[in-house]
Amino acid sequence: MLWTTLMALLLGQVASPPQDSHLALDDLARVVEPTGKIQCPKVPLISYRGDVIRYASPLRVNPEFRERLRRFETVVRETATEVYGRAPTQILHLGSFNCRRIRLWPDYLSEHGLGNALDVAGFVFPPLPRRAKAPDDLPKQLTRAFRVRIDPDWQATDGPAAWHARFLHALTQRLTARADIFRVMLGPAYPGHKNHFHFDCAPWRIVEI
Ligand SMILES: [Zn+2]
Repeated sequence: MLWTTLMALLLGQVASPPQDSHLALDDLARVVEPTGKIQCPKVPLISYRGDVIRYASPLRVNPEFRERLRRFETVVRETATEVYGRAPTQILHLGSFNCRRIRLWPDYLSEHGLGNALDVAGFVFPPLPRRAKAPDDLPKQLTRAFRVRIDPDWQATDGPAAWHARFLHALTQRLTARADIFRVMLGPAYPGHKNHFHFDCAPWRIVEI
């Protein structure tokens, strides 16, 4: 708990303690030397392809983080089904495990270095299945296959891309309301995250989407 309070102070007013159950990785210190070769703690890592929705390529993650990802996929499926009448077939990502520092905070190990983070870039949707129930006003183009990408769709205000913006915003609102999925959620509102959502389970909570 002391660790969490310290981190909240160091990261400024944006961080607060997590509101969910304790995770094994919470006990690991994240402080590292700011330069030189980085040593990541040995933590369990598994290959994960996605149980509810597949990832475009397999992830390497900590088993506890996999549980959070399953819940995330379920929220993606529910939100996409409401907005588009079907779930995506793939989640596009920019990486999971990667032993490195936090770019803006080189004194700290990135959660990617613990297999405790995922960068989501978009979603691949199939054509609308014949018997699927889609919203009556779904644009005709969106009954065909398409992709949603954080960049540029997050900002879109008209045309079919505005549906993508609606989907992405509804999704992040739902994820923010769930303390039991991700603790840190960064997006286009945060420096360096124009084209992806960064989700992790660090031992503090920051939401800047
Ligand atoms: Zn990331």
